[in-house]
Amino acid sequence: MNVEILCVGTEILLGDIVNTNSAFLARELASLGANVFHQSVVGDNPKRLKECLKLAIDKNDLVITTGGLGPTCDDLTKETVAEVFNRKMIKDDNSLNRIKEYFAKSGREMSVNNEKQALIPEGAVTLENNNGTAPGILIEDKNNNKTLIMLPGPPREMERMFKESVAPYISKRTGKTLVSSTVHIFGMGESAVEYKLRDLMNSLTNPTLAPYAKEGEVQLRITAQSDTKENAKSMIQPIIEKIKSIIPNEYIYGIDIGNLQTALVKLLNEKNMKIATAESCTGGLISKRITEVSGSSNVFECGICSYSERIKNKALKVDNNLISKYGVVSEEVAKAMAEGVRKFADSDIGISTTGVAGPTGATDKTPIGCVYVGVSTKNKCYATKLNLSRGKNDERELIRYLASSNALYIALTELKNN
Ligand code: ATP
Repeated sequence: MNVEILCVGTEILLGDIVNTNSAFLARELASLGANVFHQSVVGDNPKRLKECLKLAIDKNDLVITTGGLGPTCDDLTKETVAEVFNRKMIKDDNSLNRIKEYFAKSGREMSVNNEKQALIPEGAVTLENNNGTAPGILIEDKNNNKTLIMLPGPPREMERMFKESVAPYISKRTGKTLVSSTVHIFGMGESAVEYKLRDLMNSLTNPTLAPYAKEGEVQLRITAQSDTKENAKSMIQPIIEKIKSIIPNEYIYGIDIGNLQTALVKLLNEKNMKIATAESCTGGLISKRITEVSGSSNVFECGICSYSERIKNKALKVDNNLISKYGVVSEEVAKAMAEGVRKFADSDIGISTTGVAGPTGATDKTPIGCVYVGVSTKNKCYATKLNLSRGKNDERELIRYLASSNALYIALTELKNN
């Protein structure tokens, strides 16, 4: 099945917003076994939209649009599609009721122009919007075997609608089901992972195995295609085992776990343990990432953003003599910070960061990218020295992010092993 993604919106065309909808849809469609040979963007202009729609429908079996389903007068996708398919616009009572309910539930008043969102081209099918007001619309031209699906622009609405309504429709049409699993790797670079797995990757056609690099991490995506979900799932497990026999265990931090912070919160919950953080160079990023995860309130006690030496001493009881003797970016201070926050919070584990994110503040002993991650538990206290510089300009944010990832990974490893 050949599919074109057509995103509607002048703000995308002008670069005011990044076209994340296209990236999401392209990834999802590829994993459903659909061919995406074209993607396009058009502004909120009915004449140009009409031209794009005609071209896209002509070349493809399915066209998916995003955007332009809102209540305002520049939201023109539905009307233009109706013209191209030669259909009248009719009121869909079901959609109107859902929109009314949506407004009633959120305690907001529905304006008259929201009623426009319940108008659909005759003969079209609506797709429920469980995160907003505009329903999606599916329209089929059975004579020419062409389908067009309109999805809302806001990614939250679009992504959920795609997963709930569009993916099952496409799977049904292609007769294929695709199932993916992701192996999460930390601490090993993409090229090293690729080198170790090259023979395995080359030997596979179904399932396929593809690495994706993400700031300091590698994700291995295994995708199997079969007639049923169960069959596809059963094809994935042997590949995971094979990967585990090639990549050393300490680098694999989870399967389908999402990210480091989710893995950490899950493990803390399983072990019924609590964590506290004392952050200097990461400025609260570790706390932010942990508290992004639902369920973190059971396991996260506190995060002290102890940026100044005064607060390291006052809040964490780091000895001033230790700071003057070893320097604030040092193994000794990282350990004392981790110990200090663990004792303050009375948690099972305390982790800390102190380092130089740059561009200023470097010394011969502590160059840019030098970061210590401290760990304190009831039985031990240690710190790990990291060099996180990639030798680039403007790497402050990257160093801070990598420091937070390393701290999460170190905490995870400590908890797994003990
Ligand atoms: P609304 O009811 O909110 O008007 P809509 O379906 O009419 O929804 P648009 O008005 O086109 O959608 O876009 C609404 C918002 O959705 C945009 O301001 C933008 O933030 C986001 N958005 C739209 N298209 C994209 C896209 N291709 N990629 C990422 N975000 C997008």
